[in-house]
Amino acid sequence: MTVLPILIALVGGTVYVSPTEEPIRNGVVLINDGKIAAVGTRAQVRIPHGTQVLDCSGRTITAGFWNSHVHFTERKWIDVPGIPAVDLNQQLQDMFTRYGFTAAFDLSSIWENTRRLRDRIEAGEISGPRIYSTGLGLLPSNPGLPPDSIINFMGWMKTAPPEVSDEAQAQAESRKLLESGVDGIKLFVSAPSRSSLGESVIQTIVNEAHRLGKPVFVHPNSGADVLAALRGGADVIAHTTPQSGPWDQAILAAMKERRAALIPTLWIWKWYARHDRRSAQDKIVTSEVGQLRAWVQNGGTILFGTDLGAVDPDPIEEYMLMTQAGMSFRQILASLTTAPAERFGQSNTLGRIAPGFQADVVVLKGDPSKDIRSLANVQYTLRDGKTIYQVREFSPGGNRVPILSY
Ligand SMILES: [Zn+2]
Repeated sequence: MTVLPILIALVGGTVYVSPTEEPIRNGVVLINDGKIAAVGTRAQVRIPHGTQVLDCSGRTITAGFWNSHVHFTERKWIDVPGIPAVDLNQQLQDMFTRYGFTAAFDLSSIWENTRRLRDRIEAGEISGPRIYSTGLGLLPSNPGLPPDSIINFMGWMKTAPPEVSDEAQAQAESRKLLESGVDGIKLFVSAPSRSSLGESVIQTIVNEAHRLGKPVFVHPNSGADVLAALRGGADVIAHTTPQSGPWDQAILAAMKERRAALIPTLWIWKWYARHDRRSAQDKIVTSEVGQLRAWVQNGGTILFGTDLGAVDPDPIEEYMLMTQAGMSFRQILASLTTAPAERFGQSNTLGRIAPGFQADVVVLKGDPSKDIRSLANVQYTLRDGKTIYQVREFSPGGNRVPILSY
């Protein structure tokens, strides 16, 4: 890991201290010992002698990004303690740090394994995002999951998610997860077999999580699933449901009343439909974009998330689809920074560039207010003031160092 001097200054960029405030042009972000020490114009911020200066002229600077829907379930994560640091660093870079993600919420994976990954990151052995996790998601009984041969073909780890059929099991399984230290609970309202969790079962799970102040995420397959989850008291809807048609006023009103947050995951549905006829693909996109647009128009909270681990890691399509749904650059920035920090109880230390906040910062090459694709064009990613990603530029000899590919 790169060891940097304690004082770092990002100088000359356009700084978005938050999604709602006017950006500071030709700004300075001064970082001291992992925290933001000062932010302002060049005239306002004095840069002490001995500070390491990163020239950010022509760049855009924002708080570090959150991906609020990821999974550490691909085969490459099997047995984290046995994976060499160099491999883990590369895997975390390919998925997170090269795109500016400094925090991620894992919504179903083997908690024991994911916790080891987090431990190795937090110990400073490898560079990666802050990891939050629900552990394995709770399923209805007899879910009808795909056989091992398909799981293997898809490249995923074999898991045995807990199944619950009644309140007693719901209480026992959610307590077991919470006692093992997870940061939230994930549940699947309905399963491929069409079995589903009843509202009282959902309510039991929600009560257990809320008793400890932890959020409940739901995977819905339809608007009816969304309603059932909300009636049970769930907090975060982890997907749109493009197969089920538009969300009517009853669904939107229930989401609003419950103060639910939505993770749209538009890109994965488009990607899953890639083998279908073009007209069928267009139908999926129109449906999911319409659902997100309706929620945006209702002033709802949106958390950026891609179902990373099940989809190609480049987030550029997600940004473009969110734009298609009528979200402005600033609204998308909120879904990446302040909205998740608030929702997950971290808004006093994360999500903004403000004195005293952790120095989780992204330096973008272009101007995302003019071209949203610039959000995926990252020059530096800093976490706690450490550079955890830096784009490889032309070497002094003029040989082009290959940019990462997959
Ligand atoms: Zn998922």
